[in-house]
Amino acid sequence: LLSNHVSGKKRLKDIFLSVKTTQSNHRTRLAIILKTWFKQAPEDTYFFTDQKDDEFNRLTNGHLIKTNCSASHHRTALCCKMSAEFDTFLATSKKWFCHFDDDNYVHVPSLVKHLSRYSPNKPWYLGKPSTLSPLVILNPDDQSSKISFWFATGGAGFCISRALANKMAPFASKGKFMQMGEKIRLPDDVTIGYIIEHLLSINLTVVDTFHSHLEPMNLFPSKTLKDQITFSYSRSGTEMNVVNVNSTIDSSKDPTRFMALYCHLNGC
Ligand code: UDP
Ligand code: MN
Repeated sequence: LLSNHVSGKKRLKDIFLSVKTTQSNHRTRLAIILKTWFKQAPEDTYFFTDQKDDEFNRLTNGHLIKTNCSASHHRTALCCKMSAEFDTFLATSKKWFCHFDDDNYVHVPSLVKHLSRYSPNKPWYLGKPSTLSPLVILNPDDQSSKISFWFATGGAGFCISRALANKMAPFASKGKFMQMGEKIRLPDDVTIGYIIEHLLSINLTVVDTFHSHLEPMNLFPSKTLKDQITFSYSRSGTEMNVVNVNSTIDSSKDPTRFMALYCHLNGC
């Protein structure tokens, strides 16, 4: 770990913020992102989708990337998008690859501050598992043995340093990521964990300020919201799992609470 003093700088432009999305979410999930946290990182945030959308491409200043991946929640489509995200990052000169889902709120200043604690020249896999123990699967290279590894939940967001991405490239770049996903037959975030923890023997560093909607979102005390890196939301029936933030903005106008959160964290 570098102290902030030694690393010297906290630079947003070193970070590639990559958001996985799909056509049916452009008008719903992307719209609220564009009105909130995207404004804090418009140059460094890219959206990976499956259909051309001139309006959103314009609103993001050309940062809506249409992949050739299909619009489905199936493993192969999701691995296809992750593969495109990873290859696009590799082609940049940025120092951190951070993946998010389109139902994540990214508290950009908190992300920048947190990453400044680590050197991108060392292999870092930063994120948060959603399981209490490592995943155990049959070894795809030897079905008579089992392997276990941790993976960071994609829906909470995770970050990979440039040094680690370079090590991953032989297993994950130029379509190899999809082959890996097919080999273990598990989702994209699990495939990332398999490559990093199992194939490269580099451990996940748990950052507990990343949050997916698998966690209850309403438990953060108001004072601690600014210390978190990501938030999310979900709905099951009429129950909304959303951040509890004191705001004059009515829930009916801001069902995800992302606008209330944005105003609470940054002022409006
Ligand atoms: N997604 C996608 N294609 C689909 C469905 C979902 O790329 O057909 C993306 C979606 O935009 C989001 C992520 O996959 O970034 C997770 O989807 P969602 O939040 O709907 O489901 P979850 O897995 O969280 O239950
Ligand atoms: Mn989700």
